[in-house]
Amino acid sequence: MLKKKFFINGEWIEGNHYQSLTSPYSEEVIAEIPQASEKEVDQAIEAADKAREVMAKMSAHERAAILENLVRLIEERAAEAAEIIAKEAAKPITTAKAEVARTIATYKFAAEEAKRIYGETLPLDAAQGGEGRVAYTVREPLGIVTAITPFNFPMNLVAHKVGPALAAGNTIVLKPASQTPLSSLFLGELLEEAGLPKGAINIVTGSGRVVGEKITTDDRVSVVTFTGSPAVGIGIRNKAGLKRVILELGSNSAVIVDKNVEIDKIISRCVTGAFSFQGQVCISLQRIYVHEEVYESFVERFVEQTSQLKIGDPLHPTTDVSALITRNDVERSLAWIEEAKEGGAKVALGGKAEGNVLYPTVILEADSSLKVSCQEVFAPIVLINKIQSMEEAYQFVNDSRYGLQAGIYTNDVFTALEASEKLHVGGVMINDIPTFRVDHMPYGGVKESGLGREGIKYTIEEMTELKLIVWNKN
Ligand code: NAP
Repeated sequence: MLKKKFFINGEWIEGNHYQSLTSPYSEEVIAEIPQASEKEVDQAIEAADKAREVMAKMSAHERAAILENLVRLIEERAAEAAEIIAKEAAKPITTAKAEVARTIATYKFAAEEAKRIYGETLPLDAAQGGEGRVAYTVREPLGIVTAITPFNFPMNLVAHKVGPALAAGNTIVLKPASQTPLSSLFLGELLEEAGLPKGAINIVTGSGRVVGEKITTDDRVSVVTFTGSPAVGIGIRNKAGLKRVILELGSNSAVIVDKNVEIDKIISRCVTGAFSFQGQVCISLQRIYVHEEVYESFVERFVEQTSQLKIGDPLHPTTDVSALITRNDVERSLAWIEEAKEGGAKVALGGKAEGNVLYPTVILEADSSLKVSCQEVFAPIVLINKIQSMEEAYQFVNDSRYGLQAGIYTNDVFTALEASEKLHVGGVMINDIPTFRVDHMPYGGVKESGLGREGIKYTIEEMTELKLIVWNKN
């Protein structure tokens, strides 16, 4: 049995209480995880506080070197890393390998950005009274960053917080999702080996409900960075006071398909966007609005390709779709599908479950008031609706509490320009699904999708303080 420990102040520490971690697909116990109380969180924050000075004084090239060492260590143990993700999250192994590759890219970007934290000089004499002065800005680390992460990308979304925090010279307390602590503890081992000073990263596992308050309200903490559901994120925002808060929350992302598009070229990309990791991706493709002229052929081909997806064990190399993260999520999804049927929508494929696996489900003509449309499904469920004009499509896409990313397929450059103006989201993907992301682009949402931007350079801005220095020559 794998009995795990907290990583605090450079030491591996046993917990007082343990909980078994089971794999969502096999339901086997894969580890025993220590459950933090406020006491361990307090120790972790204290360690991060003590390490602040060391990290703040460390030169940019030294911070970059530690991150480069980390990159090398993940590369060496990439197969092991992918297996950890596949087991704890039921992420199909090919998708888990892709996540590890992206994690490596994210830390590489962080190593590079550590050397590019610039200020600027300011022409103070542009204002009356500013003559005879030289002014410039610098960016200083904010101090302690607390990071709370979700289950769905247990390595790469942690990298989006740990990478920039260390690149900027901050220290961290990391609280991973209860279902996926192993990826974070693995990172702790590698960062120790990479030469990170003790206390610069501290990892506490256990329930967010139990330790959330302490992590988000302690006065020593300067930044709270959270990725997860809107309900928890909004609660954190309300409690965090004057701390910087970065929130990466949910979405019910949509794509629009114009009449002039060659359907055959986009189907497989749309199927991937809808069903990758069982739809448990924050920018998963949930709503598809297709012009009436190509609607029938789009639906036919989409259903045909979806029916070919392979369902099964996440560790099997050909599996496309595996178990949802919890049994509750399977039951919730089935209830939402039932509500959709009662509300007049047609289930063209799927709609059933076996064990913790929900079959890829395609729903047609769902009203926008139904839960499968207006809430985040976070399951392998996609809606395809007919639209008569682009104007109507923009209204449907924008009629949402969320606004993370949206996509549009069109061959008309004016329509593309119009869509990029009219869609109220954090990012518009022209001729792609909303699920597109590479790790240095600015990424984040509007409305209930969040606050602030990730993408290493942008996160570093959020995790540093701008300081102004003025020299008076008069
Ligand atoms: P979640 O239930 O909100 O959990 C996220 C994290 O918050 C977990 O570590 C959780 O700990 C912790 N937590 C729970 N209650 C807390 C509290 N009261 N105070 C502080 N922390 C608390 O989300 P999830 O189910 O893991 O992830 C799915 C959600 O994340 C979806 O809404 C998805 O869209 C969103 N997401 C967004 C992005 C993005 O970049 N915009 C990326 C990925 C996922 P426990 O696990 O112990 O409960």
